[in-house]
Amino acid sequence: MWTPRSALSHVAQPPSAVFPGGAAACPVSLCGICEICGRESLMLKLLRPDMLADAIWEIDLAELRQRGIEGVILDLDNTIVDWNRSEVREEVRRWAGRARQAGLRLCIASNARGRARVAAIAEEIGATWLAPAGKPSRRGLRRAMAMLGTIPDATAVVGDQVFTDVMGGNRLGLFTILVRPLSGRDFAGTRIMRIFEWFVMRWLRRGSEDG
Ligand SMILES: [Mg+2]
Repeated sequence: MWTPRSALSHVAQPPSAVFPGGAAACPVSLCGICEICGRESLMLKLLRPDMLADAIWEIDLAELRQRGIEGVILDLDNTIVDWNRSEVREEVRRWAGRARQAGLRLCIASNARGRARVAAIAEEIGATWLAPAGKPSRRGLRRAMAMLGTIPDATAVVGDQVFTDVMGGNRLGLFTILVRPLSGRDFAGTRIMRIFEWFVMRWLRRGSEDG
């Protein structure tokens, strides 16, 4: 039985696991791994997170600092709070506090339309915010970077969705971190995208095993 959770556990890795990537994308294949050259398609490269984490509070802040990260763009639903909810878990609050202590600036960029909810949660964790962000469009993420005062090389993006958070971040060359969704509940459209995510994660696993 396929579920969002099982889709990601399919590629269960330690929190700091990083997909190797490396080789240039295959210029010919349209999706997945090229059957001839074995390289990833450009589409797959855009969808590959740089890091996987079980939850946002599992992200190693020291490692982010070592990578030169100064600002983190955070997804909201199923990354910071359960989908469409406002209660911030203690672990998230503590992680955000440690992040700020480590000198990282935080900005929530959510595709949600409920601006009051986003603003209240952002205040609770000491972040600036932007909604709706229109991910994977680059525009919203660029605005978030302007709010953080960071350049792409010094910016990470954290989210639970491959086709919005990871793809948007990769389009701008940000350091992308994919977390497991906090809850099994999702927006109806997202539930459909989870099926495509399952294929993407399977391809990525195959690519990193072959590499
Ligand atoms: Mg989300």
